[in-house]
Amino acid sequence: VTKFGGSSLASAEQFKKVADIVLADKTRKYVVPSAPGKRFDGDTKVTDLLYQCYDEFSKGLDSVAFEQIKERYNLIIEGLGLDISLDEEYELLRRSFIGRAGRDYAASRGEYLNGIILAKYLGFEFIDAADVIFFKNDGTFDSEKTNTVMGERLKNSGYCVIPGFYGKMPNDTIKTFSRGGSDITGAIVARAANVDEYENWTDVSGFMIADPRIVKNPKYISCITYAELRELSYMGATVLHADSIFPVKTSGIPIRIKNTNAPNDEGTMIVTHAPSSDKGVITGVAGKKDFSVITL
Ligand code: ASP
Repeated sequence: VTKFGGSSLASAEQFKKVADIVLADKTRKYVVPSAPGKRFDGDTKVTDLLYQCYDEFSKGLDSVAFEQIKERYNLIIEGLGLDISLDEEYELLRRSFIGRAGRDYAASRGEYLNGIILAKYLGFEFIDAADVIFFKNDGTFDSEKTNTVMGERLKNSGYCVIPGFYGKMPNDTIKTFSRGGSDITGAIVARAANVDEYENWTDVSGFMIADPRIVKNPKYISCITYAELRELSYMGATVLHADSIFPVKTSGIPIRIKNTNAPNDEGTMIVTHAPSSDKGVITGVAGKKDFSVITL
């Protein structure tokens, strides 16, 4: 399973890097994309444009964000030289926003449309996450139903793209995970397909052994356990969505953090138990001011 974050899929140039990575290794079978993220400082993520667009359309107003969303995707399609048009999808989106299909539905379209483009570009099958990821009536994630349905579906498919961030409620409406939730989708797919590694591609080369704002040029951590990662994240080291750990941790699947813009960098491997030969005595150092821990 190979998951790509929003900055890895923010433009046609980034899509090309992603395709090079995916197609370089035949074992990269299931690809989970985020929505297009920021291309530069001050840019707006498509997910934020979608929330804005929904708020405008559902109040009966015109939406500038709608034009920006269409432009973002059309630029990617053109830049990749694909002969597809998303015009019908945009029209459906506009009508459903006016009809108040819900903010979660709105936000989920970022991953959905990006997934359609990526599947086409890679020549992979597109599987709508709404058909394989389920929530319960109380809004919590239905891990068992998802694992069974998705497991079956993946058994019957080859190379495919499954958009991140959303799934379906029992009443057929769309629900999203919390922000950054495509990481969770990747972990869920990894568990259902029982893969031997979950690659999470982002724009950093892994976790650092210390905070770069305090220590100059800290090294990257090559291997860290889930338990150590929890400590570091607790202190503010955020690369992964915290909830993305559970599905893979329970099945003992390692996560590898990799950098789309520097694919040859080793990255950080997150594992249940680390052989001591793979690790230093100290994995990383983190701290918080005015913070104490009492262990009982
Ligand atoms: N696109 C969603 C967000 O911006 C989910 C994700 O990127 O993981 O939060």
